[in-house]
Amino acid sequence: MTVNDSHQQQRTEEQLRQEICCIGKRLYERGLIAACEGNLSARLDGGRILTTPAGLSKGLLEPADLVVTDEKGRVLEGARSPSSEQAMHILIYELRPDVRAVCHAHPPTATGFAAAGRALDQALLPEVVIALGHVPLARYGTPGTKELTESLEPFVPHYDAILMANHGAVTMGPDLQTAFHRMEIVEQFAKVALITSLLGGSKLLSGREVAKLIAARPRYGCAAPPGSSPELPVTAEQAEAEDGRIQLTADELEVLIDEAVRKDRARR
Ligand SMILES: [Zn+2]
Repeated sequence: MTVNDSHQQQRTEEQLRQEICCIGKRLYERGLIAACEGNLSARLDGGRILTTPAGLSKGLLEPADLVVTDEKGRVLEGARSPSSEQAMHILIYELRPDVRAVCHAHPPTATGFAAAGRALDQALLPEVVIALGHVPLARYGTPGTKELTESLEPFVPHYDAILMANHGAVTMGPDLQTAFHRMEIVEQFAKVALITSLLGGSKLLSGREVAKLIAARPRYGCAAPPGSSPELPVTAEQAEAEDGRIQLTADELEVLIDEAVRKDRARR
């Protein structure tokens, strides 16, 4: 058991109910969800899942509004229906034994990227590389259907935050706070990526810098998801190779020109 596992396991169901209500309020107040959007869940013992109800604002929940289901999504406790995305939460708990909390929201900037068909996959900010590696984009699936869970399935073992095309984002973690913080990081990253592109484009981190950050993850208490190594974010070198451009310093350019002139003279 890791330190984080014990952190959430020590919480009683009542504490988890209160924490879900508190995080629902923070998601709503930070504009990461609107109206009745989004859902949150936490793993309980015995394969049970504590989850937010459908059709209520997650900013105004009371602990008694929450629903407990079994690992098939059947309601065990609570007067309301569970979230329409309960199958997504169940899939994540099935594929990730290390995960004890899941957060789904529609953060506007990150959802903009998802609706534009763009992953948040560039090595732009060291904190994001350390915390998440990068944020891939799962193809579109109708909300609340098998299509959506199937589109997420290949990414869940390898990533703690995933964009869902034309929909939103889902994050997960060893406890509710971590899952929520990852959602905040995704939206903050999307805002910075958007502003960077408005300012004329990103200056990405090099492969060497990314490798240093990945190696530093344990120092920051960040572990990669237990699945096989995820794809690394797009680095400066990869981006240059993709668009066929190279960057040179003035000195490097001078050396190349001198060499070309020398070769030209030698040929005459
Ligand atoms: Zn949604």
